[in-house]
Order: sequence, then C-alpha cells, then structure tokens
Amino acid sequence: MNTTWHDGHVLGQGAPLDARVDWHVEHASACGCRALPASVVAELERRGVPVPERRRDA
Ligand SMILES: [Zn+2]
Repeated sequence: MNTTWHDGHVLGQGAPLDARVDWHVEHASACGCRALPASVVAELERRGVPVPERRRDA
C-alpha cells in the first residue's frame, strides 16, 4: 500500500461522486490496495472513460 499517496489524498466519507471518481482514478495508478467500487466503475463507463487497471504490486 502506498501510504505516502494515501496521506496526501484523503477521501471524506460524504465525498460527492465526482470526488470519489477522481480519487479512484488517481488511486488506481498510485496504489492498488483497493478495487474500484461498482459505483465508480459505472460512472466511468457512463462518461466513456476507460476504467483504469488496478495495480497489482501494492
Ligand atoms: Zn491504496
């Protein structure tokens, strides 16, 4: 887990979908400790944005 990245990118509990989508897209390239939630994947697909691959080295 990339704790340095996490320390600088804290996602609040009530964060809006937009913020969660941005967070998860960045997270997927910085760290792979968590899979993208279905709600974020669905929103990326709705926007026509490629779903990032989850890193496997975390
Ligand atoms: Zn992580």
